[in-house]
Amino acid sequence: MARYIGPACRLCRREGTKLFLKGSRCLTEKCAIDRRSYPPGQHGQGRQRFSEYSLQLREKQKLKRIYGLLERQFRQYFYRADQRKGVTGENLLVMLESRLDNVVYRLGFASSRKQSRMLVRQNHFSVNGRPVNIPSFLVNINDVVEVREKSREILPIKDAMEGAGARNIPSWLEMEKEQLKGSIKARPSKEEIALPVNEQLVVELYSR
Ligand code: SF4
Repeated sequence: MARYIGPACRLCRREGTKLFLKGSRCLTEKCAIDRRSYPPGQHGQGRQRFSEYSLQLREKQKLKRIYGLLERQFRQYFYRADQRKGVTGENLLVMLESRLDNVVYRLGFASSRKQSRMLVRQNHFSVNGRPVNIPSFLVNINDVVEVREKSREILPIKDAMEGAGARNIPSWLEMEKEQLKGSIKARPSKEEIALPVNEQLVVELYSR
């Protein structure tokens, strides 16, 4: 599946907020947003005008970039969220949050969603005892995500777990650190997902 391979910090600067795309670096003073908090490019420091459309577009781009998706993949999530019962914006957030690469990141097995996606692709995790190497795999309540036996000693996972101390594991997940496994206790709520995004504007954008 195609993915963005350009500079990550540029995306944060474009959105004017930390998207936490680079793991532990995002928590240090090297963070580009702390040093240059204006948008990248020649006109980055110029006056910006915000139309209704541009505000909606920025929220969509933010959400898409946080989860590392390209336009076509993201749009498919929106259509699926729209078909489900309930509030479309919340459905969208819950679906994105239920991706296996996100759950691996939230459990602290990876320091960023990008790293988590790579680790999942390399087949280091199982879901309910079965190896799964599809980052977009959607987990359900009571699923158990575990580091596979053969991958328990690999450095990226060990390092990420040591560095994950500062991150809180959301209450919809339960972690058994010694066993290197976590389970899904509930459906994530909008409050627990806590992203700097107004998902309603994303819905409005796609409803134009
Ligand atoms: Fe964004 Fe992290 Fe780069 Fe800071 S260090 S600009 S939060 S990707």
